[in-house]
Amino acid sequence: MNKNVTIVGSGLAGPLLGILLAQKYNIRSNMYERNQDFRKTNKYSGRSINLALSERGINALREARIYDSKFKKSLIPMFGRMIHDIDGKQSFQPYGNKKSHYINSVSRSEINRLLLDKAESTQKISIKFSSKCSGIDFSNNKIMINETTQVYNGPVFGADGYKSAIAQKISNHIKLTDISHSYKELTIQSKNNDFQLDPNSLHIWPRRNMMLIALPNNDKTFTCTLFMKTKGKNSFESFTDNDKIINFFEKNFIDIIDLIPNICEYISKNPLGRLITIDVDKWYYKDQACLIGDSAHAIVPFYGQGMNASLEDCVKLCKLIDDADNWESVFYAFNQTRKLDADAISNLALKNYVTMRDSVLDKDHILKNELSLKLMDLYPNYFIPEYTMVSFTNIPYSIVQKRSKIQEKILNDIVKKKYSPYELQKEAVEKLIKSNLSRLDYA
Ligand code: FAD
Repeated sequence: MNKNVTIVGSGLAGPLLGILLAQKYNIRSNMYERNQDFRKTNKYSGRSINLALSERGINALREARIYDSKFKKSLIPMFGRMIHDIDGKQSFQPYGNKKSHYINSVSRSEINRLLLDKAESTQKISIKFSSKCSGIDFSNNKIMINETTQVYNGPVFGADGYKSAIAQKISNHIKLTDISHSYKELTIQSKNNDFQLDPNSLHIWPRRNMMLIALPNNDKTFTCTLFMKTKGKNSFESFTDNDKIINFFEKNFIDIIDLIPNICEYISKNPLGRLITIDVDKWYYKDQACLIGDSAHAIVPFYGQGMNASLEDCVKLCKLIDDADNWESVFYAFNQTRKLDADAISNLALKNYVTMRDSVLDKDHILKNELSLKLMDLYPNYFIPEYTMVSFTNIPYSIVQKRSKIQEKILNDIVKKKYSPYELQKEAVEKLIKSNLSRLDYA
């Protein structure tokens, strides 16, 4: 196998792949990034200010020996959802039933900086900034960088995000679905050098057809994201003047006005982000190119898994190199296995938007959530709640999706029959679980 590769994109997946290839296989990478080196300019542009990092991403960073005590200090653990109701009252819903069941708020620029520094420290990765790729000529091994042609040696990895130039050259069909909702980021400033809300929760203001969320930052601010329809009633389009903005927040998010006094400024000035899902039919071209991360499978952010899945891609791809003697068989196997997982998390993420903005308010959902945690206590190798499987294990997403559907039916059955897992009907509950779910030993 060729020991040289080209990687387009130095976001999150690109540098991690370069690091793993260098550490495990002594492979050299030439990396092209369209933006300037933000470590020198201090101007960072990413798709969100902070991100939720969970087990899959952590596992990948561990694999690359990046998840060390210094990095851990930059993470803020979030143990559950803090629900803010319409009157401003707060209630806490835990993510799991173990001490280790938490997700982490991390600054996107921080994790990007760490990956770039580590990539350079391998001395096997050369990163060329301000180098935009606009095309690739597979017949002549040439790549277009800043409108000039460069010859490449070995395969090219497209890690160039959701508008990938490489994906356009590889695939026959890219399906982009815009969910007709968009997002805007706002900031809750610190007060007296402290957080204005509990920093160890992911805050949600669920309002059925829209929601606001807030994740903590190390400077004691929170980054809030407002998700709502792009057009129509109760949409971003309706924010035509300051009165309308204030009326909207007074009606729907009363406590936010106190927390963000300059709300009108944020709403008028901050850019509107699109929420899209990208389904790329084919992820590779012969032994010459392969997609990883968002370029292959951009998803909506509601499960906090886009980055986690993109980092996990790198680990999965490297595992395939171990058993292969040519790049094409690696890419083929990667596409065959990983696309199933990407499709699964894409669907789960869409479903979780409804859970976060709507279902968390329903008694039935809260009851089933509590029941799920009880069942996990009693049958830890059989019944594992969907959120736990997604965020706290490395169980392939496609298996998560299948088991989650079965578990939903079990929960409905238990609720309908008013069974209690502890008392007289313990046997019936156990039978229901063990006859429908296989035993799963997971890490
Ligand atoms: P990117 O991070 O997009 O990196 C692509 C890189 O390629 C960039 O540096 C870009 O400049 C460069 N590039 C692009 N085109 C070219 C070109 N033509 N030539 C050269 N370079 C190019 N995920 C989570 O896991 N948890 C979260 O909480 C979470 N929250 C999110 C919130 C929002 C609002 C959004 C929009 C996304 C969120 N995500 C989250 C998803 C996450 O941002 C992405 O999945 C992740 O960034 C994908 O990494 P990547 O390396 O594939 O792509």
